[in-house]
Amino acid sequence: MAVNIRPEIQDIENTIISTRRDIHQHPELAFEEHRTAKLVADHLESLGIDVQTGVGKTGVVGILKGKNTGKTIALRADMDALPMQETSDVPYKSKNDGVMHACGHDGHTAMLLGAAEILSKNREKLNGTVKFLFQPAEEGQGGARYMIKDGALEGVDEVYGIHLWNYQEFGTLGVKPGPIMAAADLFEITIHGKGGHGATPQGTKDAVVISSHLVQTLQTIVSRNTNPIESTVVTIGQINGGYNFNIIADTVNMKGTARAYTEENRQLIKTRMAEVIKGTEQIFSCKIDFDYEDGYPPTINDPDAADTLLNAAQKIVGEGAGYPYLSMGGEDFSYMLQEVPGCFFLVGSSPMNREPLSVPHHCSHFDIDERALLVGSSVYLQIVEDLLMKG
Ligand SMILES: [Zn+2]
Ligand SMILES: [Zn+2]
Repeated sequence: MAVNIRPEIQDIENTIISTRRDIHQHPELAFEEHRTAKLVADHLESLGIDVQTGVGKTGVVGILKGKNTGKTIALRADMDALPMQETSDVPYKSKNDGVMHACGHDGHTAMLLGAAEILSKNREKLNGTVKFLFQPAEEGQGGARYMIKDGALEGVDEVYGIHLWNYQEFGTLGVKPGPIMAAADLFEITIHGKGGHGATPQGTKDAVVISSHLVQTLQTIVSRNTNPIESTVVTIGQINGGYNFNIIADTVNMKGTARAYTEENRQLIKTRMAEVIKGTEQIFSCKIDFDYEDGYPPTINDPDAADTLLNAAQKIVGEGAGYPYLSMGGEDFSYMLQEVPGCFFLVGSSPMNREPLSVPHHCSHFDIDERALLVGSSVYLQIVEDLLMKG
């Protein structure tokens, strides 16, 4: 498989990799990315790029204005790590106990800094502006929303977001128009029944029996209500209730997540859940509380921007550019795509000589094939060249 790393990026390979390792050793949780933000801001400043700090709390924005006016293209990297202990013994292992870059955001930051370095040296060829968005708190707290609120997307015509992707091998790049990541919602259900003696069910409303009925029925939303061609998930991840073997439980609490690639399916799941729960209340004459919380919306790529990205990607990875290995994971880049057209894409990074699924994101021995960093930087560079350096 022929991979054409851009020669300018190849020249700064050591900088990109050592930046990634530096950030990997010093991971920081959502909205606590102070060291990382400083590293980013200092680096951008040293390149002569205008820097705004404190955008969306701990976010950093770099602005590179070209010689001539034109479109504004934003490139985004997230910076936060996860609350987990790194278990592999690499030389650049996390120095912060219980915090780890297990999703690859260290690499995203390093790749974008690499692209910024080369672009800063080509300012006079640039017809337009590049905004470099270094975002906090992607893992669950929606840092993208805070950056948007602070004006990070003002004047932006198109936005591109990257993710290293261990489900694909080095030399591949996943991109598609339309949905690429799922909506990721949470819900909580509490069944209020009536307890009693385990040998005397008459007169009770057994919350355990009601919950088992409900778990089964909720699965029929995916199997019987949504279109089987369109992926959806309803997961009950947690059930708590009961006291002992001979006590009929009065209360059961359940928590779960719902995933969908479209806003329509998301609404369908929400509506059907409410209906199924209401029906269950009637069947068992009990009371059930239902709390549904919208998480990140689906990440939906603009068709033209996806085309731009595919073109750029083909120049770097050739035939390796194509349909992504999809997951039902959520991504807060979706909020940016609700504001301006753009594209989210996935750079194959599964570690060398390992099965792509054996080192998944969010696992304690997560690591990447660092050659993928050069692919990501090259694609970022290529997008800007294709959009702002023609003619
Ligand atoms: Zn993650
Ligand atoms: Zn991530």
